[in-house]
Amino acid sequence: MISESAIHDLRRDIRGSVMGPGDETYDQVRRVWNGMIDRRPAVIVRALGARDVMTAVNFARGHGLAVSVRGGGHGIAGNAVCDDGLMLDLSLMRGIRVYPNRNRVRAEPGVTWGEFDRETQTFGLATTGGLVSTTGISGFTLGGGIGWLVRKHGLALDSLMSADVVTADGELLMASSSENPDLFWGVRGGGGNFGVVTSLEYQLHAVGPIVLGGMIVHRAEDAPALLRFHREFVKDAPNELTTLAVCLTAPPSPSLPSEIHGKKVVAIALCYAGAVEEGEALLGPLRKFGKPVADLVRPMTYQALQSMFDESAPAGIMNYWKSSYVDGLSDSLLDTILEHATQITSPLSAIHIHQLGGASKMPVDLSTSYGHRDAPFVVNIVSTWTDSRENQKHVEWTRGVSSALDKFAIGGYVNFMGEEGEEGVKAAYGEEKFKRLTALKNKYDPANMFRFNQNIKPSV
Ligand SMILES: Cc1cc2nc3c(=O)[nH]c(=O)nc-3n(C[C@H](O)[C@H](O)[C@H](O)COP(=O)(O)OP(=O)(O)OC[C@H]3O[C@@H](n4cnc5c(N)ncnc54)[C@H](O)[C@@H]3O)c2cc1C
Repeated sequence: MISESAIHDLRRDIRGSVMGPGDETYDQVRRVWNGMIDRRPAVIVRALGARDVMTAVNFARGHGLAVSVRGGGHGIAGNAVCDDGLMLDLSLMRGIRVYPNRNRVRAEPGVTWGEFDRETQTFGLATTGGLVSTTGISGFTLGGGIGWLVRKHGLALDSLMSADVVTADGELLMASSSENPDLFWGVRGGGGNFGVVTSLEYQLHAVGPIVLGGMIVHRAEDAPALLRFHREFVKDAPNELTTLAVCLTAPPSPSLPSEIHGKKVVAIALCYAGAVEEGEALLGPLRKFGKPVADLVRPMTYQALQSMFDESAPAGIMNYWKSSYVDGLSDSLLDTILEHATQITSPLSAIHIHQLGGASKMPVDLSTSYGHRDAPFVVNIVSTWTDSRENQKHVEWTRGVSSALDKFAIGGYVNFMGEEGEEGVKAAYGEEKFKRLTALKNKYDPANMFRFNQNIKPSV
């Protein structure tokens, strides 16, 4: 229990706002993207700046509360909100300052990719961002960051140049390759384990504004041949090309022929982030392969591509995801995916195969804590449905696919993971990095105040 007078004092010290279970907007603010999450923090602080974050962290420490951190609120595990602890909501911190002459941007942690792209694309600049524009930049970047530019410009965290971090002792530290480099290593992959990031500075790259993007859609019966062709097609593809193969149910979209609405299909979604004519020439064989039911690939603005999937990801409905990096797309893996895709339990669910490699690939990467740099693909089982009474059915399907994929799996991707426990987190980083992350946790958060995340437990 926190006394009324303590809350009163906290309110006085916070420039943003403070709320508890009795407050009018409490239920709205504790809500996150995944509708399965329903947690009740003891207190919520809506911060407006680093000073508010420092005050909130000091308050939490003084009252023995653990802290959950909300950036964009898209985390599947829902760790942005906690039961009984202090929820630090950063969603009102949305400042963005672009430095066009230096190809840099500084952004606050409540910014979403849609907002970020809007500002940076004004100058023909971008960095690797999420495939859905409402995703927050901070959770996304601190866990990795896979998007349409991943093969050309690396993960989002590869373009992170510095971050301001409020650590568990309430201090604000700058983390970069020259200042607190150990902390900088940790936050680039280790998520929110080491503190609260109040500002992120990125390197920007010349992108678009027009890129070649969209998707090619085939009937499910053509999927085995298409996915094999796609595997060979991307083998030596230039880094400008990034693809995402998706097994899904065709939505009733006017851009798709009505006879396939509601039918199982497979799509190759893609971005060619280079000269459009070069992309057109490169993509010829893929577009001509088989008998596509729709070819929606066309020159479009990078911002339009970045919101192409927005409608498929509404906030507030049920979600349960499982992911795994794989070291290639063997026939046996593809057949396993396709077999389970035919038994999908919700028309909103899908299985995604993200192509990685290119600039994100490093056989040995000691410079960031992100795991599995050498994996060429990550498979994400995206289970989505609207009726909470059906939870068990959809969760079981997801777990079934995941178990069937276990023999191909080399660890999960923290940004796509739900609650996977310590073993899941360890597998996501690999033994060596996990050991180093644990040592860093001992240094920066020995009491595990920041435990609502893909948690690296301190060993002290
Ligand atoms: C619809 C949808 C689409 C997605 N698309 C992609 C994609 O294309 N590529 C990809 O790689 N991932 C994608 N993701 C996964 C996404 O990267 C993660 O969900 C990520 O955590 C979202 O960040 P957020 O700030 O919105 O989420 P939050 O839920 O706010 O944050 C997630 C966790 O990150 C930590 N955190 C967030 N902000 C801070 C901070 N400022 N300081 C310290 N810790 C912090 C906290 O531990 C928090 O629990 C997608 C997720 C969704 C729901």
